[in-house]
Amino acid sequence: MRNKNSIEPNIINGKEFADNLCEKIKTQVSELKEKTGITPALAVVIVGEDPASKVYVKNKVKRTEAVGMKSIHIEMDIDTTEQELLSQIDELNQDDSVHGILVQLPLPKQIDEQKVITAINPEKDVDGFHPINIGKLWAGENGLTPCTPQGCLMLIKNTLGDLSGKKAVIVGRSNIVGKPMMALLLKENCTVTITHSRTQNLPEICKQADILVVGIGKPQFVKKEWVKQGAVVIDVGINRIATEDGKTRLVGDVDFENVKEVAGAITPVPKGVGPMTIACLLNNVLTCAK
Ligand code: NDP
Repeated sequence: MRNKNSIEPNIINGKEFADNLCEKIKTQVSELKEKTGITPALAVVIVGEDPASKVYVKNKVKRTEAVGMKSIHIEMDIDTTEQELLSQIDELNQDDSVHGILVQLPLPKQIDEQKVITAINPEKDVDGFHPINIGKLWAGENGLTPCTPQGCLMLIKNTLGDLSGKKAVIVGRSNIVGKPMMALLLKENCTVTITHSRTQNLPEICKQADILVVGIGKPQFVKKEWVKQGAVVIDVGINRIATEDGKTRLVGDVDFENVKEVAGAITPVPKGVGPMTIACLLNNVLTCAK
């Protein structure tokens, strides 16, 4: 098993991998600027005051600028109407100097998220959530791929190399993690099982996996006994839990400390999948600009 980006032998260093990817993107951005005069630009639209969303957006802006891209940050009031947001998106769609558009989710309840996602020009849809890009992903055509599963796949391939014939199990079937992950792993010729909250015998199904990807939002849910010796475990979950000293800390959906004893390779939380998501977002902006 190859594991080029590790802190301990079987711990996948997503942070280091993401930093390296951002360095490569930075080089390509500067080459693009030199050859064409084009500076890739990402517009991030945030509606309302959700503190977690604000932190995510701030981080995205910082990372976008760090690779030499232009960042356009648009803040809209919590009581913005659906029509006002759609008009803003239309303006960004028409603006040739904007290459990528990201609307930070979740949106206030008066706005239909699906309508907003569908309004973004599919060629500027850096989240890869537009139905056209979802269709391209499942058809195996080139399109924009959702950032989190794209990052997971990079880490899995960096660890295992060729994935042909591997048994992959995905826990969680959301549109942003589980479903696109399934399409990507199928494309790599894995045999894929996708599971969810109604799945029966989940531990037994997980135990068959050579590759186990978990994204459910349940702290430390997947146990050591569920994991086959040597399996590659990718933990997408981000959960904040209380610690004994009255503080909080971030944990994933996998019981990391115990599972790492059996896993061939495992991503930690934090510094695992999280940094890859943002690096892949920048990767998508670069693709749009090119
Ligand atoms: P969603 O709530 O949209 O989806 C959760 C999925 O988990 C659903 O398919 C649900 O099943 C399934 N699920 C819930 N409980 C169980 C259970 N007991 N057993 C099996 N499956 C279960 O979440 P997201 O996909 O948006 O996010 C998942 C996690 O990943 C969260 O912790 C989120 O913070 C994190 N995340 C991290 C990112 C990163 O960059 N690292 C990016 C995106 C998300 P059902 O469909 O039946 O309800």
